[in-house]
Amino acid sequence: MRDDDDDDTPAHCGTGKTRLYVDAAMAAGGDVALDKDQSHYLINVLRMGEGERVLVFNGRDGEWAAEIAEASKKAAVLRVIERTRAHQPLPDIWLLFAPVKRARLDFIAQKATEMGAAMIQPVITHRTVVSRVKDQRLQANVIEAAEQCGLVALPEVREAEKLDALLNHWAEREAPRRILLCDEAAAPGGAKASLEALAADGGRGAPWALLIGPEGGFDAEERAKLHARKDTVAISLGPRILRADTAAIAALAAVQMVLGDW
Ligand code: SAM
Repeated sequence: MRDDDDDDTPAHCGTGKTRLYVDAAMAAGGDVALDKDQSHYLINVLRMGEGERVLVFNGRDGEWAAEIAEASKKAAVLRVIERTRAHQPLPDIWLLFAPVKRARLDFIAQKATEMGAAMIQPVITHRTVVSRVKDQRLQANVIEAAEQCGLVALPEVREAEKLDALLNHWAEREAPRRILLCDEAAAPGGAKASLEALAADGGRGAPWALLIGPEGGFDAEERAKLHARKDTVAISLGPRILRADTAAIAALAAVQMVLGDW
């Protein structure tokens, strides 16, 4: 839960109003009871009171203005007033990444949300060291980032899955989505050209899944399996080895620029 004027968010994102994600139906005149943490944040942290307005979104029905109808130290109820923005779906770009240490996991979740990823999922590769990932923590980071940067849609967060298993059922579950493998062994200098070639071949706006490996990189077996797939394209992110979280952000930027909505 964040206040827009906490940082230098671009104006079109900032309305100066507090934005809250609430998993509830939105209709003018409807009431939305906030959970304990959100109530505490509005009433005790921001010291807001009855009659004051916030913005709410549920990730499906756009953004709505709402007024604090009831405010007690423990609970707050919002009355939904009117829609302020229509729903805006996210570009169909997924981020699959080998989990890294906690703080950097938070960073990846926040930045991938800001950059418009539609789904984020940790994938357990052979060299992945961090095997337990708390989905709730990822979800909390995604929600906070969406509240802060003015999103009205929320990226989906999927449970961590073994890369081998994911690839085995990809064709029947995810086709025609293609995989963009960020491969530090790929010839540098070709990323722009290969992404533009994909765009020229109808790839702009198509469903994509970016795949980022672990700190130790993909092992030879995984790399061979990925390169042998017809639905996978390997791209380089330049001649320097990037840390996994940097690679995730750099790859999202490159793909949004050429195949997404930037
Ligand atoms: N262990 C690898 C090495 O030392 O050669 C580095 C792995 S890198 C820290 C983690 C992941 O980020 C890689 O598996 C890859 O997906 C991505 N990555 C990092 N730098 C990259 C680059 N220059 N091009 C493409 N992908 C890159």
